[in-house]
Amino acid sequence: MKNFLVLLFFLFVVLFTDAQSGLYQIIPQPQTMIPSKGIFEINNETKVIANDVCLPEVMLFVEWLNKATGRKFVVEKSTSMPSSNFIFFSANKTFQEMAVPPTVKLPGDLNTLKVDQNEGAYKIVIDERGMMITAVYSTGIFYASQSLKQMLPAAAESGMLKLPYQLTGVRINDSPKFTHRGLLLDCCRHFMSVEFVKKYIDLLGHYKMNVLHWHLTEDQGWRIQIDKYPLLTEVGAWRTEADGSRYGGFYTKADIREIVAYAQKRHVTIIPEIELPGHSCAAIAAYPELSCTKEKIDVENEWGVFKDIYCAGDENTFVFLENVLSEVCELFPSSYIHIGGDEAPKFRWEQCDKCQKRIADEHLKDEAELQTYFIERIAKFLEGKGKKIIGWDEILEGGIPSNAAIQSWRGMEGGKNAAIAGHDVVMSPTSHCYFDYGLASTDLREVYSFDPIPDGLSIKEVSHIIGGECNMWSEHTPQSVVDGMLFPRLLAMSEVLWTYPPQRNYDLFYERVNTHYDRLKALNVDFGFPTVPVKLVSVFLPDGKIKITPVKTFDGVSVAYQLHKNPDVSFTPSDKYIPFSEAIIIDEPARLIYKASFRGKEYREDLVRSFDPHLGANKPLTLSYEPSPYYPGGGTNGLADGNLGSTNFRDGFWQAVAGQNMEVVVDLGKSQLISSVSSNWFHYANAWIFRPSHVAYSISENGTDWEVLKDIQSAISESASGELIIPFIYSFEKRNARFVKMIANNNGPCPVWHDAPGEPSWMFCDELIVR
Ligand SMILES: [Zn+2]
Repeated sequence: MKNFLVLLFFLFVVLFTDAQSGLYQIIPQPQTMIPSKGIFEINNETKVIANDVCLPEVMLFVEWLNKATGRKFVVEKSTSMPSSNFIFFSANKTFQEMAVPPTVKLPGDLNTLKVDQNEGAYKIVIDERGMMITAVYSTGIFYASQSLKQMLPAAAESGMLKLPYQLTGVRINDSPKFTHRGLLLDCCRHFMSVEFVKKYIDLLGHYKMNVLHWHLTEDQGWRIQIDKYPLLTEVGAWRTEADGSRYGGFYTKADIREIVAYAQKRHVTIIPEIELPGHSCAAIAAYPELSCTKEKIDVENEWGVFKDIYCAGDENTFVFLENVLSEVCELFPSSYIHIGGDEAPKFRWEQCDKCQKRIADEHLKDEAELQTYFIERIAKFLEGKGKKIIGWDEILEGGIPSNAAIQSWRGMEGGKNAAIAGHDVVMSPTSHCYFDYGLASTDLREVYSFDPIPDGLSIKEVSHIIGGECNMWSEHTPQSVVDGMLFPRLLAMSEVLWTYPPQRNYDLFYERVNTHYDRLKALNVDFGFPTVPVKLVSVFLPDGKIKITPVKTFDGVSVAYQLHKNPDVSFTPSDKYIPFSEAIIIDEPARLIYKASFRGKEYREDLVRSFDPHLGANKPLTLSYEPSPYYPGGGTNGLADGNLGSTNFRDGFWQAVAGQNMEVVVDLGKSQLISSVSSNWFHYANAWIFRPSHVAYSISENGTDWEVLKDIQSAISESASGELIIPFIYSFEKRNARFVKMIANNNGPCPVWHDAPGEPSWMFCDELIVR
């Protein structure tokens, strides 16, 4: 038996290798694709035939084919196949034997390849007679027609397909691994038009994804018309930006019905997300009585987590939510309603008499259990409407209804625990699925390495992992840049959710991605880059200068740069760039601005690096703390690596601690004349990042006896808004010193005015600079 399994495994690998042989460049990769004899020519006389069950799907395909060729093919309704020159579609329950791949448990792999006759399975056979497309369900026919589109050249997408066109013989057997293959579109932080949402439904269908998770309510905007509460869209859909301008928009019920119908035709299920109890400022701005304080607030115009949430003690909150959800359920046929459940600060509930009374009356332990009470009540209500809930993994913390599903975002652990507890799970960990993150943290290869199945689960538990989702949060992504964030990464997600791990090979996948750029362009997708286009390798030379070498990360990229020495605050970049192909040497503080282009597109993220080959650079440091594993900023010697941080605190050059001070000593190696010590600090109160309250610098000749040079109080208030870089600089008459010490004092827990009062605050530093 063991040998039999091994044989099957090799057979599988052989079939799979054939499938990747480059015959047709299909994404996601079909389960098996075997070249066969014969060539079929599509010409003006080709007949398109379909049976009743799949008529709508075939009509959609023929509509596309007519646009592609400028011809007028019509669909002939029939169940019998002519003898030649045909494209024959048939969805039929008698094709039960067809589903693929076979029931094989791969050695060492828990992923049982099951014959569950799943909805998406289909088969394509092309020989000299014609094309035969069969499936059990019409969904399979829809997916087969997406494969057919990709078997024709990209020119077809721009209506330039010349007939006759020849297709090489092939047998494709295909079916999806996961049943839930999703994309979250956040249309709240930035509004996206009806046409744009429909374009994404088309793209999801084209790449065989089947869930649009539509994020419709947020702190920064309420986007769905609710008849019973008109202020939700009159007030809640609009915010006043920092510059005084108004921003917003919403979907009418007519818009939503149109979008839902459009998605149904493309086998995409729309799951609406109505966030509760947190992320609800826009609703509270419209109806202040929904909050604990009942005070008027504005629709938020900043990003973050806010303390005003729905009051869990007030019955009116539940009346409101039940009325809203009733209207939502009428609009969306999906079996799931997403209720959010993430990032709900409990501060207001702790201070609210009604919430505290609810805790006492319901014999709840604390505010966490009050959230469970809240979610359970909503879940029960939705169950009465024939719906199940799905929520972010936080809702698992207090226990949830048995048919509730979990979307795991804070890593895979929450999803794993949910699967063990018997809940269905959608995986979307920040590590692989957050497409609002730049390519520096999540590039195409990283997404492709994603496996939604965590280690250590039994086969039964694995069966609860129903799929995954990539999340397009839009704080920093207005509609105009969404394409560039989602593509080509969405192609990797589509393949990860469709195929089995042993089938995946990044290099072969990337070859196929390269053939899809022209197709994406024709599909009006303003795609971005697959990975950060160029990496800078910097090394210290023996004389203390920094040598920087550009390394291109993929073929076809060109890079150019400008270098500014001793940039001051008034510094502005020029428009003159020089080709960046050889190493450059940095001998004084400098800012390097570079840009990359690929297929006529400029890389969108700022490519700016600041270097400082100061006296303390590349010298050993002693730290009083462990840098945060999330923001190690270069590790133990990160504050002396000559790299300065950018305006993005996640750039990898900022080193952070939470809730403590930072004490750093640099050993210059020998006594030297110095005249200034400085450090830069990131300040972004919304992200719980505060500049130190004060920073003390000391010097020493022996590392034991210290002389305090200066203890500098922050000139900037703790409540300063926005993302700031705050320097603490001390310059003095030249002094001799071998050791320099910095003690940065944490601002203390987040202040009372903050949205997370009492929580430990972060400090972010990039470098201890000695001159
Ligand atoms: Zn309350």
